[in-house]
Amino acid sequence: CDAALLSPSTGIIDSHAYMLSLRGEAEASGAAFAFHTPLIRAKAANGLIEIEAGGEAPMTLQCSLLVNAAGLSATNVARNIDGMPLDRIPPAYLAKGNYFSCNAKAPFSRLIYPVPEPGGLGVHLTLDMAGQARFGPDVEWIETINYEVDPSRAERFYPAIRKYWPTLPDGALMPSYSGIRPKIVPPAVATQDFLMQGPRDHGVAGLVNLFGIESPGLTSSLAIADHVAELAST
Ligand SMILES: Cc1cc2nc3c(=O)[nH]c(=O)nc-3n(C[C@H](O)[C@H](O)[C@H](O)COP(=O)(O)OP(=O)(O)OC[C@H]3O[C@@H](n4cnc5c(N)ncnc54)[C@H](O)[C@@H]3O)c2cc1C
Repeated sequence: CDAALLSPSTGIIDSHAYMLSLRGEAEASGAAFAFHTPLIRAKAANGLIEIEAGGEAPMTLQCSLLVNAAGLSATNVARNIDGMPLDRIPPAYLAKGNYFSCNAKAPFSRLIYPVPEPGGLGVHLTLDMAGQARFGPDVEWIETINYEVDPSRAERFYPAIRKYWPTLPDGALMPSYSGIRPKIVPPAVATQDFLMQGPRDHGVAGLVNLFGIESPGLTSSLAIADHVAELAST
């Protein structure tokens, strides 16, 4: 991911430091994190939500506000909340984005964003912390979660990259990594927006659901948080 997470001086992505800094600020303001503690199910009753959590230290707890921000699992989590109307839960589709790295020196010092393609932002160029070029993501609709990068997809990258780097050598691209976008519309539907639901939308007091938070969800995370706070208070 990238976009607003760039150092203004180098243009290099440092999303890890960004997340660490947000975590530090949250903890300094009194937040506590329980990592590796999956929500198994929850039950809404009498204005409170009772959560059953698993992991190494299973527990149940009651809360007055539950924000379902489970990314690819958000629709499953919503289905496991007793009281959440099923007809308000959107369908889930998976659109993988594959990245390729490059063994040739790219003649760029800044990011390059081509015109977006249906389902994604187009094969853009980013630079990692060591200055190595990475290209992606593409859009590959998949049925089940799987992060392997198919090397043959490089064939579609060459023409896309050569639009802005005509001398990219043959054989320069190597599979790197992938991510999966939590889509709530099928491939034939060109555009969608995030779907953020508060109590007024689904009728469950104290529950906010975030569905389809794909790009630019990271860049807009603080604005999304403000909106969640508004939804929770109405
Ligand atoms: C290929 C690709 C490129 C992208 N590029 C950009 C970009 O350039 N700029 C940008 O802004 N955004 C980008 N994004 C989008 C960005 O990554 C997402 O919008 C963002 O990560 C969404 O954050 P989130 O917290 O809603 O969900 P996630 O980051 O998916 O986090 C969900 C969390 O919920 C946890 N979880 C799941 N189930 C449960 C459960 N039952 N109980 C407890 N926890 C659970 C998961 O473990 C995970 O930690 C990109 C995404 C992809 C796939």
